[in-house]
Amino acid sequence: MPTYSRRLQGAGGEFARAGRQGASDCLQYSQCGQVQAGVQRHWRGAQLTARCHSLCQGPHRLREADILFGLVQEKIAQTAAEIYATEAVLYRVVGAIDAALAELDKNSPTFTQDVQRRIEEFAVECSILKVFGSEMVERVVDRTLQIHGGYGYVEEYPVERSYRDARINKIFEGTNEINRLITTGWMLKRALQGTLPLLPAIKKVMDEVMAGPAARIPYEGPLAEEHALLASAKKISLFCSGVASQKFGNEFAEQQEVMGALADILSEVLALESIVLRTEKMNKSTRSR
Ligand SMILES: Cc1cc2nc3c(=O)[nH]c(=O)nc-3n(C[C@H](O)[C@H](O)[C@H](O)COP(=O)(O)OP(=O)(O)OC[C@H]3O[C@@H](n4cnc5c(N)ncnc54)[C@H](O)[C@@H]3O)c2cc1C
Repeated sequence: MPTYSRRLQGAGGEFARAGRQGASDCLQYSQCGQVQAGVQRHWRGAQLTARCHSLCQGPHRLREADILFGLVQEKIAQTAAEIYATEAVLYRVVGAIDAALAELDKNSPTFTQDVQRRIEEFAVECSILKVFGSEMVERVVDRTLQIHGGYGYVEEYPVERSYRDARINKIFEGTNEINRLITTGWMLKRALQGTLPLLPAIKKVMDEVMAGPAARIPYEGPLAEEHALLASAKKISLFCSGVASQKFGNEFAEQQEVMGALADILSEVLALESIVLRTEKMNKSTRSR
């Protein structure tokens, strides 16, 4: 946990030192910070739930036996998995921002503008992270409250406050609707500008589909299935983007429902890839110990 806290502070400090408080850049950092705070708070909450520490205090204790119910265990497992996924995306995005800023020449007269430009390149990732993180937090507190049963609903118990507080995350720092539109909008813009080789990738997948079924690419290693799943998810996202742009052409930006659905697909792909990368890294470091 402290690693990305320091990273965020480091990157934020860099930006502050540059003396620039550009609204969009601040928003992107702030979005990362918001997710980081949410993950930290709710990870701790989930740990406490799992261990039954704080919840077992007081006259209306959550009984040890409740934790043994399969459907309660399922909620705790889903929570741990979702927090793991959000952390994976967060580490990756903040790490990439750090790496991009580290390449800049601090003595350059254009340093401030360079920082701003570099951060803006991560607008899509930050928007995805904001939506993904805020909706994850909402599900986590909802499950945590459910585990408490009726006591979770009353003000005496801290989870009630968490439940109310979590709701705002989908509204401020750019509503989730606007962030979904930003995600797909920026991707399309980058693709049309040619800064992201999306159009050739879409064409390749569309050609593959038209050519009919092909032999599956075999993947090896402990995460072979996950790699295969990720490759298919990427193809689906490219295929859907291709079909949508063919169907709507210049009117695409007005199709908000389609833009929103595509943003969700992109977000799932980013999360899946980040989970696979994080897990591989962890496996490697465990083996080398
Ligand atoms: C507790 C709290 C703290 C806040 N703190 C700050 C702060 O520190 N700084 C700050 O600047 N602001 C802050 N805000 C304001 C917050 O950022 C806005 O509430 C938020 O941006 C939504 O704007 P709005 O309330 O005007 O809703 P509206 O913009 O009216 O949106 C209403 C609904 O319509 C949707 N919508 C709006 N436009 C579109 C569109 N073009 N396409 C599709 N859907 C759309 C929205 O997603 C939303 O669901 C805070 C708000 C709250 C409640």
